[in-house]
Amino acid sequence: MKTIAIIGGGWSGMLTAIQLLEKSKNIHVKVIHSEQSIGLGSAYSTTDEAHLLNVPAGKMSAFQKNPSHFIDWLKNNGYSSENIEAQFFPRYIYGKYITELVDYHKKNKLLEFIHAKAIDITKQESAYRVLLSNSNSIRADKIVLALGNFLPANPKSKSTSFHLSSSYFQNPWHTGYLKNLDLNKDVLIIGTGLTMIDSVLSLKKNGLKGKIFVVSPRGYTSAAHSKQITYPNFYHELKGKSLLEIFQIVRRHLKFAETKNSSWQGVIDSLRPHSQQIWIALSKKEKQQFISHIRHIWGIARHRLPLTTYNEITILKKKEQLEIIGGRIIDMQEKNGNVSIAINLRKNSAIRELVVSRVINCTGPQNNYAELTDELVQRLLSKKMILADDLKMGIKTTLNGNVLEKDEHISSDIFAIGSLLRGVLWETTAVPEIRVQAENIAMQIIDSIE
Ligand SMILES: Cc1cc2nc3c(=O)[nH]c(=O)nc-3n(C[C@H](O)[C@H](O)[C@H](O)COP(=O)(O)OP(=O)(O)OC[C@H]3O[C@@H](n4cnc5c(N)ncnc54)[C@H](O)[C@@H]3O)c2cc1C
Repeated sequence: MKTIAIIGGGWSGMLTAIQLLEKSKNIHVKVIHSEQSIGLGSAYSTTDEAHLLNVPAGKMSAFQKNPSHFIDWLKNNGYSSENIEAQFFPRYIYGKYITELVDYHKKNKLLEFIHAKAIDITKQESAYRVLLSNSNSIRADKIVLALGNFLPANPKSKSTSFHLSSSYFQNPWHTGYLKNLDLNKDVLIIGTGLTMIDSVLSLKKNGLKGKIFVVSPRGYTSAAHSKQITYPNFYHELKGKSLLEIFQIVRRHLKFAETKNSSWQGVIDSLRPHSQQIWIALSKKEKQQFISHIRHIWGIARHRLPLTTYNEITILKKKEQLEIIGGRIIDMQEKNGNVSIAINLRKNSAIRELVVSRVINCTGPQNNYAELTDELVQRLLSKKMILADDLKMGIKTTLNGNVLEKDEHISSDIFAIGSLLRGVLWETTAVPEIRVQAENIAMQIIDSIE
């Protein structure tokens, strides 16, 4: 019987394990996981009901071939609502769905959980040995890297010692930043994405009366989902076009949607099923241009807020309890229990100074593998068992998730899923993508060993 080691027991790793176990009775699946909760990861461990899914329920099934699986589960568990497919449920409810699926599969004797961190992989003739943080090791015939979301990179600042301060919270997905919070003092959040929104809602729910400042280079704010979201598919117009031409065509459709009283959100959403193909067809130079010039505005258009959340945020801004600042932090220093921040403002290059009680880093998961300090990643990179992606987003793989090793040789034994494929596929971290990848990897593994 062959052994498959899955490193990382977040949702990507668990979806792969489930697919392997459902498709074969001849394999032993070992999930190596460093955290207590299985399947939940940073996205679904939250218990705060204000933290909502950013994908509508109708698209969150664990199984591409059974698209109503999550909806059926919601209905069977008393979460019925009108137009249920379009609803954005709290993430803790999705966490319950995951836990139920994981518990069901836990009964399978071919599935084993190993509570440790994988710190190295060595090749041994036709198999591998995965070294663990508890000094044990396991033998595996094939390996799936499902390492998921690493902590955000520390922001640049003159005084780097600030990163060690107890007023600085590098992990925005853990509620540590709410502990011993001085409710009357101001807080700074770095980054304007959806995790910033989660943090604002949690801070407010926990009674913060001080102001929340948010800083990002451009100072963009999240847009809202619209009720009318469908727009005719125009992907055929984009095939074979350059980035500039794609940009112009999309702009034309956005303008057209406006004149027809349709929503721009529908135009963006119509591209979602094709974003991987669009990305793959771009040249490396175009991908770099996209990252430098379009990525931020695309992020705002693509990662939107449910209307209720958007309204809450708008009210906080109007009441001046929340202020979004466009600029770059130049320094952060802790003085007498307060943090002094210096920001170089985008609009006029002036320096703005703030004094806050704590700083929360919501700049998003660190994707630049060459800069990660993770032990496993560093060792695999140094042995060239994985190669950092040229765009500084994840690692090099084939479109099917086979890892590229030394000299860009395609591995038929080591696979990667989810955020590790960011540079290869761009759109690769949400459930609609990872459930497809999990099934593809499972099929490849089973085909190669049976
Ligand atoms: C705050 C947030 C909200 C999100 N909301 C949504 C949403 O609403 N809808 C949606 O579709 N997607 C959402 N996503 C995307 C989300 O990333 C995916 O849905 C999914 O959770 C990714 O799972 P993962 O297993 O790839 O990563 P993770 O959840 O990060 O899990 C990876 C796990 O691997 C472990 N690990 C890493 N290295 C090792 C090692 N060496 N040894 C052992 N264990 C290791 C980590 O500790 C971690 O627990 C959200 C993401 C975030 C961060």
